[in-house]
Amino acid sequence: MMTDENSEIMLKPLVFRVDENTPEVVKNVLLERGWNKYNEDVQDVADWNLYWRTSAFRMIDHSNVKPWQRLNHHPGTTRLTRKDYLARHLKYMKGVYGASLYAFSPITFIMPNDYIKFVAEYSREKEVLGTKPSYWICKPAELSRGRGIMIFSDLKDLIFDCATVVQKYISNPFLIARYKCDLRIYVCVAGFRPLTIYLYQEGLVRFATEKFDLSNLKNNCAHLTNSSVNKTGASYKENKEGVGRGCKWTLSKFLAYLRNQDVDDLLLWQKINHLVILTILSIAPSVPSASNCFDLFGFDVLIDDKFKPWLLEVNFSPGLSLDCSTDVSVKRKLIHDIIELMHFKQTCLRKTKKEPGEASGHWPHVSWTGSDKDRVCETSKHWCKISWAEGKQDHETAGQWINISQFGQKSIIYAPSRHPSHNQESCISSNIFSLLQGKAYNNDLIALQKNVKVFPKEMSTAKPKEMKVSRGSVPSAFPKIRNKQTTFKSLRYSPSSESHKKKKNITPYFLSDKGMRPCSHAGDFVLIFPFNEATLAATKNGLDLKKVIHELQRFVNRQTIPEAEDKTKKT
Ligand code: ADP
Repeated sequence: MMTDENSEIMLKPLVFRVDENTPEVVKNVLLERGWNKYNEDVQDVADWNLYWRTSAFRMIDHSNVKPWQRLNHHPGTTRLTRKDYLARHLKYMKGVYGASLYAFSPITFIMPNDYIKFVAEYSREKEVLGTKPSYWICKPAELSRGRGIMIFSDLKDLIFDCATVVQKYISNPFLIARYKCDLRIYVCVAGFRPLTIYLYQEGLVRFATEKFDLSNLKNNCAHLTNSSVNKTGASYKENKEGVGRGCKWTLSKFLAYLRNQDVDDLLLWQKINHLVILTILSIAPSVPSASNCFDLFGFDVLIDDKFKPWLLEVNFSPGLSLDCSTDVSVKRKLIHDIIELMHFKQTCLRKTKKEPGEASGHWPHVSWTGSDKDRVCETSKHWCKISWAEGKQDHETAGQWINISQFGQKSIIYAPSRHPSHNQESCISSNIFSLLQGKAYNNDLIALQKNVKVFPKEMSTAKPKEMKVSRGSVPSAFPKIRNKQTTFKSLRYSPSSESHKKKKNITPYFLSDKGMRPCSHAGDFVLIFPFNEATLAATKNGLDLKKVIHELQRFVNRQTIPEAEDKTKKT
């Protein structure tokens, strides 16, 4: 690549933006990976690649997002993460697709609206159970970390003063040395359109720190597995029989424990796969459309003593504080892997020598607006009008020459196509930027031609992998990027992610390119939806929910065994 004395080719550092609540582990991992922290005082307003915050974004943030940017939340996902909304969506799905498919969700009533229905169910159960007690759990719809939760067996103990759900209390949990536990499963929805779900193969198992005892429903440290509850408990630091100190295991340790007990952990994991997909499907059609965003959810799953997984709730912005060594090992890698999954790459740009007043190391961005024919390309300091030269196509590379009118003067530069992908656009932009700054024209032109011809194999991009290509899809004559196709075999369990770890290259996945498939894995994230050709096809041109459910039903039926003959426990 040619350079002149005023310019050099460098990789632009990726930039992350945070707010005061962004978890430390996210910032630290990004810094470790060589990212820079966004500084609004010296950087352009849009000069960042990832904005990570704990709370949701405003719709305006979503509509203003630039092609090179990603937000860590999708709009409208409280449908999943607010306990009452989730209950409503799951109930709807039970009604339409059958209660057995959604049997992983404990029966739930939304208070105060469902009070009468709840009393009817409570009375019906009392009659069936006779003198045996029935157990219910009452949870504020909008609170988290175990706050405001109470367990009761007598209707007269039910008290609520805010939006609340009353749920069947799973009173036969799987216990380890009589300690209750639940699983924190991490799920990344890389997009809702098309629906793309990754399940993290590692996770956390959270223990209650006092022995399970139904005769005392008031002891939160025996009934709730939230670490925020248990870390303040008297037994937290003790070396507890069968569990050890603290209140967390890694998911892999738990699954190895089950395997040791002759439990079919593979079957259990498949059931969890289905539970995750079916839960997300319940909200997918109603989530507003937005590109360049993803969501990391924390699914809380309780396993009962028959090894049936139950969905307790889905967490928005699952806790990322590092309270113990288990947290450190799981959550740090989780963030590394999510960044891998998002396929951020640095942009190769021509770094011109510092202009007076320009902060060093900060790259002005070039934005494109306008119609297909005439577009305006502007930086913070310059602008120019661009027209695509008619009839001047370079047959060898299907490229185009672009006329640039700048303050009455005309320049011509080379573009890879009349319909460049975003990657190509950003490559052109960087060169236009040089041109706008009055850099040596001839050298730039030559460098630009070379530059374009090697793209994208040797050029990286800051574009996240699921970007909308602004004007048409990647031209077929351009160097191929869909070289690696994922084969969907089945909904599979990947207990060992070793084979995934070896493959670091992720196939870019462009939303607008209908032929592309999502990458199959990144780090310990494994694609669980779409899971075969039929479900992939059912996500094209909107989500064909009926078809997807039909496919899923086939898998679920294969593993649905009457409770009495449940084979999760190997014989
Ligand atoms: P929060 O958002 O406050 O964490 P959860 O729904 O996750 O609320 O409940 C907190 C804890 O209470 C869970 O981690 C679990 O230990 C226990 N729990 C919640 N629902 C049930 C249930 N239906 N059956 C048994 N235990 C439950």
